[in-house]
Amino acid sequence: MLNHPTPDLLARFAALVGPGGALTDPEATHPYRMEWRDKYLGETPLVLRPQTVGQVSAILALANETRTAIVPQSGNTGLVGGQVPDSSGTEIVLSLDRMTRIRAVDAEGYSLTAEAGAILADVQSAAEAAGRLFPLSLGSEGSCRIGGNISTNAGGTAVLAYGNMRDLVLGLEVVLADGRIWEGLGALRKDNTGYDLKQLFIGGEGTLGIVTAAVLKLYPRPKGQAVAFAALSDPAAALALFNLARDRAGHDLTGFELMPRIGVDFVLRHIPGSRDPVGTVAPWYALLEISSGHSDEAARGAIEDILGTAFEQGVVADAAIAQSLADRGMFWRMRHGMSEAQKPEGGSIKHDVSVPVASVPAFLSEAIAAIEAFIPGCRPVPFGHLGDGNIHFNISQPVGADKRAFLDRWDEVNTLIHGIVARYHGSISAEHGIGRLKRDLLPAAKGPVAMAMMHSIKQALDPNGILNPGKMLRS
Ligand code: FAD
Repeated sequence: MLNHPTPDLLARFAALVGPGGALTDPEATHPYRMEWRDKYLGETPLVLRPQTVGQVSAILALANETRTAIVPQSGNTGLVGGQVPDSSGTEIVLSLDRMTRIRAVDAEGYSLTAEAGAILADVQSAAEAAGRLFPLSLGSEGSCRIGGNISTNAGGTAVLAYGNMRDLVLGLEVVLADGRIWEGLGALRKDNTGYDLKQLFIGGEGTLGIVTAAVLKLYPRPKGQAVAFAALSDPAAALALFNLARDRAGHDLTGFELMPRIGVDFVLRHIPGSRDPVGTVAPWYALLEISSGHSDEAARGAIEDILGTAFEQGVVADAAIAQSLADRGMFWRMRHGMSEAQKPEGGSIKHDVSVPVASVPAFLSEAIAAIEAFIPGCRPVPFGHLGDGNIHFNISQPVGADKRAFLDRWDEVNTLIHGIVARYHGSISAEHGIGRLKRDLLPAAKGPVAMAMMHSIKQALDPNGILNPGKMLRS
């Protein structure tokens, strides 16, 4: 049973972080209680912003002793409501946003050690300054933080070539529920000494411990890149282009994203500075990125070769290759603007699903037909990481419809789409996690044996249930 913290107890917590580290005023705590999409607004009596692992440890020791609920938060860009407190007003938010140090960059060892509150874009820049690449890349990279990226096992646009966050972490420093610090900041590439404990916290969504720092893998920086935007008749053509590009470029294919015309239209309408890359109006588009260990010219040659063959085979209707760095940035902005551009179009019901890559075209045609029959006039905007089989199957409300009434259908629409996903042996959460949004969908997706194992792990690491209660698993 969790505790309702008294003013005395709150003062004891606040004393652990010193001046400026504790917020209580509702206006000051608002940014920590409100989720990016305005979907969840919670209540909290206290936001704690520690600056050291020692302070995090002291907070958890006190929380465990007093059975006080703690909600970890890094950049507050999560899309499943895991990082915001509930409405009870009893949960304390523990923000890592003052632990932002990059502790070390080891260019020769291809690794970087960052604190959990380091912003992803700053980690990318620190790697770049050392002549290396940290490949994780998300639309939210200017705001999300490494602790959140680890705790959600973030994906993004570079998974195709470099894997998701799980593949990019060498070691972790974690504070356990009882305040003990696990010093797991190793940088070894090979280590088979028993269970790989860090993997429990990667994707753990703050339910098993607080990540305070991580050793991350770096890669050589590509010497050249080329980006193209291809107009396509349907997702089957996109899959054919993907397979051709993969076959020709192998690991040099570092991005392959699918977008529907309506998504491109939304970006052109709502994102300033956007421009139609191809000019040809087609039902679908793919963005391809080729990286080269040699030069831009080599990357461009590879992309021309792929597109040339695709034209001959009738796979591609039209295509444009970025002519400059600015062009490349603009092509990528078309893709990264997809979520943002849906906001001004009214309510959007979202899914973050994956199916086997070869099943993407069949899944899309079935799911689009089903939702259009279910809500006449709705506007499906499915886009995403085709190379990973990960589609953000978003649906914008019919033009002129009532936003609230449309969003009230979120659960029944989820049931419809997730039912189709299940038939393709897919996942209901490809990269955003479970949080509170999908918690009650998890048992059906995982099955009883997996759920029992998850509850056992939670019980072993957080027996009092103080860490992010009610997220991912029912308390
Ligand atoms: P938060 O939102 O603060 O937290 C996320 C979860 O992790 C919560 O459950 C929280 O309790 C827990 N947590 C946070 N910090 C810690 C910690 N230090 N220790 C333990 N638990 C912790 N995601 C993708 O995977 N791919 C994308 O392409 C992508 N694109 C996005 C685009 C936009 C515009 C936006 C707004 C979001 C996008 N996301 C994407 C979702 C989001 O950015 C990621 O999930 C990101 O990894 C969350 O990081 P954060 O620092 O904001 O974490």
